[in-house]
Amino acid sequence: MTIKVAIAGARGKMGIEAVHTVIKREGMELVAILDYKQVGQTLADLDIFPENYKVPIYTDFCALVEETKPDVLVDLTNPHAVYEHTKQALVHNVRPVIGTTGFTDEQLVELKELAASKKMGCIIAPNFAIGAILMMKFAREAAKYLPNVEIIEMHHDNKLDAPSGTGLKTAQMIAEVRDPKGQGHPNEKEMMQGARGAEFEGMHIHSVRLPGLVAHQQVLFGGEGQLLTIRHDSFNRESFMSGVTFCIERVLDMEDLVYGLENII
Ligand code: NAP
Repeated sequence: MTIKVAIAGARGKMGIEAVHTVIKREGMELVAILDYKQVGQTLADLDIFPENYKVPIYTDFCALVEETKPDVLVDLTNPHAVYEHTKQALVHNVRPVIGTTGFTDEQLVELKELAASKKMGCIIAPNFAIGAILMMKFAREAAKYLPNVEIIEMHHDNKLDAPSGTGLKTAQMIAEVRDPKGQGHPNEKEMMQGARGAEFEGMHIHSVRLPGLVAHQQVLFGGEGQLLTIRHDSFNRESFMSGVTFCIERVLDMEDLVYGLENII
């Protein structure tokens, strides 16, 4: 069976890579692009893609579904657009594979209920890179023995949300095995607002944004006289693509929403 795929966010850094990946991938067909502005009739009209990429571009999701009947929608857009895209996909019986980060907890709950009620697979993956998934799993394991932890996530300076989905997900996974606890001196005082970073159940998350970076994270565990650092680096966006194709194939066999690749690999 050939899996029909639509992509939202195809002009972006991740989207461009995903377009090439799906087009080259045996067993998948890129049938449509979802955009929010009329940038051309097909991808071939855009300078960033070869002339033989005759994949139609739609600004209307209903028309896209009616005319191209995708099995899966891959979303690589931004935190403002992704919730509506995911919801619309589920409503139209298109399985979402979501790489975009920045959902609120309420949105995740609502989408989970919708996916379950429709018995539709939906994968929301804050990080598609296998190494990053292992980093989170190892961090959860380490926190059982070294519960004092701080997270430093580092991304390119065009990223809209902070902390990163991966940073937050790491903290959530650690919180599964660690009782909430304050860290640092009980009387510590920030002399400059934000100096200690964001806080999740006592864990501090620091967000670095610099040109030249892609996606990087260190999880630091401090113990008596020792420091354990678990680090992952994505040096380019190809590092995410095996996760994208894995999810496109896997989501077809699922009947509910899964948040985080670590739950299915
Ligand atoms: P990007 O370069 O800014 O690309 C986003 C693209 O989406 C832009 O071309 C933007 O167009 C387009 N867009 C915005 N609103 C849209 C809408 N309503 N419909 C269709 N397209 C829309 O960002 P990126 O670096 O590719 O990252 C995209 C998302 O993936 C971000 O949320 C990022 O955090 C996430 N990400 C996830 C992973 C992962 O492993 N899960 C890895 C890296 C990044 P305009 O520029 O014209 O507005």
